Amino acid sequence: MRTLVHIHDLSFAPFISETTIQTRVKELAAQLDAEYAGKNPIFLAVLNGAFMFAADLFKQLTCQPELSFVKVSSYVGTQSSGRVDELIGLQTALKDRHVVIIEDILDTGVTMDKIGTLLQSEQPASLAVCALLLKPASYKGKQQPQYIGFEIDDRFVVGYGLDYKELGRELPAVYQLIN
Ligand code: 5GP
Ligand code: MG
Repeated sequence: MRTLVHIHDLSFAPFISETTIQTRVKELAAQLDAEYAGKNPIFLAVLNGAFMFAADLFKQLTCQPELSFVKVSSYVGTQSSGRVDELIGLQTALKDRHVVIIEDILDTGVTMDKIGTLLQSEQPASLAVCALLLKPASYKGKQQPQYIGFEIDDRFVVGYGLDYKELGRELPAVYQLIN
């Protein structure tokens, strides 16, 4: 693992190694396989951050998972209510399907609550969340995520899909901001 990584104006130190991530990904895949075998699950990976986690997770899954990539977008609607959230990229009907959302990180949980609300209206048979990282100190989401790779402290991280101003996503490990 490299030592310090410099991105734009900030420096980041090694935090979770590639080996540690891959070991944990295998454990999560085993848990998911046990739960979803025979259920024809569909996994929804949230772009952009979750692309690497989703790819590694998928290489381990044996529950015959389907995969779709989605993105949350917020636009100014025609109503006076202000901004409207929508989930783009979804091409499969989710009614009565077992759905697992794959996210890179849950911080406050606001994003996941938005996605959860949008997906519940599709009436899936079940809806679970699998996130590589969770910041428990700042998380205020409506429900506790079912599958978490690592609980981390409330400090900015990059790598393994996560960016700082669009850079750093390619790093195979997770790095944490240093002062
Ligand atoms: P939330 O809505 O849970 O507060 O934030 C979720 C989104 O904020 C994540 O999907 C991610 O894009 C971004 N985010 C939160 N914490 C971090 C972090 O430590 N590093 C990076 N790169 N993004 C973060
Ligand atoms: Mg994200």
